[in-house]
Amino acid sequence: MIPEGFSRLQSFGVQCSNYYWNAGGEKIGITHADLASIGILDEGMYLHYDVVRKIINIRKSLMSKYGWDLLIKDAWRPLALYRLIIEKRRERSLQVEGLFNFEKLPHSTGLAVDAVLTEQGGKPLYLYDLEKDGPGSRFLDFYNDPDSIFFHRQKILHEAFLREGFEFGEYREVWHFQLIGITPETPRF
Ligand SMILES: [Zn+2]
Repeated sequence: MIPEGFSRLQSFGVQCSNYYWNAGGEKIGITHADLASIGILDEGMYLHYDVVRKIINIRKSLMSKYGWDLLIKDAWRPLALYRLIIEKRRERSLQVEGLFNFEKLPHSTGLAVDAVLTEQGGKPLYLYDLEKDGPGSRFLDFYNDPDSIFFHRQKILHEAFLREGFEFGEYREVWHFQLIGITPETPRF
């Protein structure tokens, strides 16, 4: 069941890549049948409409100023999806601890989003170089040289979201944004 007040991002022409529906699900061992069992029947990605509205504004501003676009990689994650991911990862002995913010579960609110940059048309504008710079490069303040292309891209992405009232998450990932004052559901695992 899609909560009241939520909207489907794809209906607004927002570029989306549903990790759990696509290749990411395979990696973890989540099938479309598993997703159907928790009511996820297609690749639709949902967020509270307040967030959708802001994403539309951010896209407009990025396009007019830089010719860049957003790609949404994760949005609302119902608790049932969190549970499914945890169960499947445990089955495959994949990392679970430290993977998500289990205390707050920001994605369960529909007010948190994982967004990266692309050129218009979808060519990715990477925010970090995992291979060269290692896992630390996925977090805020790793790139502090203003001449770095990653510093530059992150600065533009971050300013666009912060201007619309978003804040970073506690894990300080460079792609995660959430609206201030979120009240998540109570986690039960
Ligand atoms: Zn996130």
